[in-house]
Amino acid sequence: MKWSKFALLLVLLLINSCTHSTASLQKIEEMSIPIERVNNNVVALAEPRLFPISKKLIVIDAGHGGEDFGTQSPFKPVIKEKNLNLVAANFLQGYLQQMGFMTAMTRKDDTFVSLDGRAEFANELKPALFVSVHFNSAPAVKAEGVEVFYYRSEQDKGRSAASKALAENILNRIIINTDANSRGVKHGDLAVIRKTNMPAVLVEGGFLTNESEYQKLKDSAYVKRLMWGIAQGIQKFTSVPSQSEML
Ligand SMILES: [Zn+2]
Repeated sequence: MKWSKFALLLVLLLINSCTHSTASLQKIEEMSIPIERVNNNVVALAEPRLFPISKKLIVIDAGHGGEDFGTQSPFKPVIKEKNLNLVAANFLQGYLQQMGFMTAMTRKDDTFVSLDGRAEFANELKPALFVSVHFNSAPAVKAEGVEVFYYRSEQDKGRSAASKALAENILNRIIINTDANSRGVKHGDLAVIRKTNMPAVLVEGGFLTNESEYQKLKDSAYVKRLMWGIAQGIQKFTSVPSQSEML
C-alpha cells in the first residue's frame, strides 16, 4: 500500500471512529441494534447508520410459500421451511430498515409466488440487490451449516462478480455472528438468482434435518443473529464499494 493511500485510510478510520461517540449510544439503543459489552465499553455489533443516508432499495425474497412449503424438520415440533423463511425475512427487513435501506418483499404472507414472478418483481423495481432467504435439508443428517449461492454467468461477468462479493460479505458476517459451520460461497443455477438482473444471492441459513442446527433454528434469537449477519453483509457491500479499490 502506498503511504498516500495509507494516510487516506487512516483519516477515514479516524472520521469513522468519531461518529461512534457515547452520545450516539442512545441512538444505537433506540434502533435496537444488537450491542455487546467488552471491558465496560459498549460495542455495537455493526457500524450503525445514525441517519438513513442510504436510499438504496433491497428486495428480500422469503423462499417458498402457500402450497410449496419447501423442506421441513423431521423433528418435533415440525418447522416448515416456508414459515421459517418468512419469519427470518421479516427480521432481515427490520434490520435493513433500521440501517436506512428501503425494502420490498416478494411475499409478505403465506402465499405462493412463482420463481419467475419473484424475479420479475425484482427486475421491475430495479433494487440495489436481491437476497433470497432459505433453510436447507439433506438425506445425510450430519450435514449442517450455512452456504450462500450466487449465479455465475459468462454473459454478465460484472453481475456475477458483484453477486459473489455480496455472497462473501454476507457469509463472513453470518459466521462471525453465529459461529455456524461455513459451507462456503457457491455457484448455484437457481432460478431467482439466475433470472434477476441485479447482484443477487440465495442464503441457505442452516439444515432443518440436522438435530443440533434444528435446535438452534428453533430459537428466534439465533435466527435474528443470522439475519443480522445478512444485514451487515449487505451494509458492507453497499457502503464501501471503493474499499477494494483503495487497498
Ligand atoms: Zn428452500
